[in-house]
Amino acid sequence: MKGRTRGRDTTRARPPDKPFRVVVAGRPNVGKSALFNRLLKRRRSLVHDLPGMTRDVLEETASLSDGRRYTLLDTGGFDPEGKEAIPAAVRDKATAAIRQADLVLLVLDASAGILPGDRSTAKLARQAGVETLVVANKVDRRAGMEGEVEAWELGFPEVYGVSAEHGIGIDELQDAIALRLPAAGAEESEGEGEAEPEEPREIALAVVGRPNVGKSSLVNALLGEERTIVSEVAGTTLDSVDVSLQREGAAFRLVDTAGIRRRSRTEKGPEVLSVVQARKRVEEADVALLVLDASSGPTGQDASVAAHVHEEGKGLVFLANKWDIAGGSTESDAKAFQETVLEQIPFARWAPVLFVSARTGRGIKRVLLAARSVAANRRRRIPTGELNRVLGRALRDKAPRSASGKRLRVYYVAQTGVAPPTFAIVANREEPLHFSEARRVENLLREAADFSGTPIRIVVRGRSREDRELN
Ligand code: GDP
Repeated sequence: MKGRTRGRDTTRARPPDKPFRVVVAGRPNVGKSALFNRLLKRRRSLVHDLPGMTRDVLEETASLSDGRRYTLLDTGGFDPEGKEAIPAAVRDKATAAIRQADLVLLVLDASAGILPGDRSTAKLARQAGVETLVVANKVDRRAGMEGEVEAWELGFPEVYGVSAEHGIGIDELQDAIALRLPAAGAEESEGEGEAEPEEPREIALAVVGRPNVGKSSLVNALLGEERTIVSEVAGTTLDSVDVSLQREGAAFRLVDTAGIRRRSRTEKGPEVLSVVQARKRVEEADVALLVLDASSGPTGQDASVAAHVHEEGKGLVFLANKWDIAGGSTESDAKAFQETVLEQIPFARWAPVLFVSARTGRGIKRVLLAARSVAANRRRRIPTGELNRVLGRALRDKAPRSASGKRLRVYYVAQTGVAPPTFAIVANREEPLHFSEARRVENLLREAADFSGTPIRIVVRGRSREDRELN
């Protein structure tokens, strides 16, 4: 509840029986209707935002995948400037809807940049003291990406880049709404203390690795763990079977468990087949558990699977299996093995290595816990203020070089997404960083927050000329 009462008007506390109100606000034609329908999971717009068209506030009940409900309001053609000849009565209703909201989704057209109408809507939300998430719509368009970065300038701590039309970024936005909603059946708590740790979604895990490294044995060991509730579910791809498991309040799904077991029985087809299957599994997962045979060490094929995990932006945990028969199993053996992994797969130095044995059960308990924290790290956000304190300063003090060797003047840094965490460095020119600079920036980010187990993406965005002239 803390998050919501952060606004200035703390007298606005919502009675426990009242539904949580989420208001979609913004200039006309930024895509509010499209977003409204997306959040309601309707296929097509029932109401079209025609240019200049105005209408009343719409109100519907939306539900989240976990069944919790909230009231979603669309303010329609809302323009606080009044330039688009919106009747005062409509404007007043929209303003009232914002004032009574628990959460405002401030929608803007990222492809059009930040316009005065966006700023005045922002001002209104701020004055109303309502927590506001900025939704930068139309990021599917080329200019949309820049607009998304600019949207941070509105000064709200969270910006979600979406394409309401194409359904991009909607899951993240829904997660953000879910975080603010009261827990199911929960009373408004008067007490102190932080909200429940966020655990809104199931964590999809892909167990991958070469034939015979022990994937199938590991899956069995994981499923056989104490206090694990296991059930089979249909997979997302044709004929695949996943297993969902609950452990200590967290929900996991093991992707294509049937495939892992089946292949290990009929073994061992050509290695190419295992690579193709590993790729598919990784694409469906949040976190890949890459099983290595600790008794023989990592190979080129392990490195190529890890590279794919990296490219896909998925979380990665190495499981050094068969530790019961590998070397002396002392601490220095573990260190030596870790170093071999680093040498062979240097680009995944951020991924933890767990030493396990599917046969003896050693280390198996920690696997799901590690996967869970990697999944959380992969969705971690650094607030813009902190980001610029840590990184902005370092980059302004020592300007990074681009790949072509030019100095980049850095204006500010923004996190533009999660899963994987993605950062935009907004600079005077749009050129990729020199690889050593990319590494330096990545190190700074990893020092600033716990991103272990997740890749990080860093892009450089140039500021538009008009924007520079304005400032
Ligand atoms: P998959 O092809 O990756 O699914 O591998 P399997 O799970 O079928 O295991 C291949 C072989 O390695 C089997 O003979 C297993 O009994 C053995 N194995 C799996 N895990 C371990 C382990 O932790 N220690 C030892 N010593 N052998 C293991």
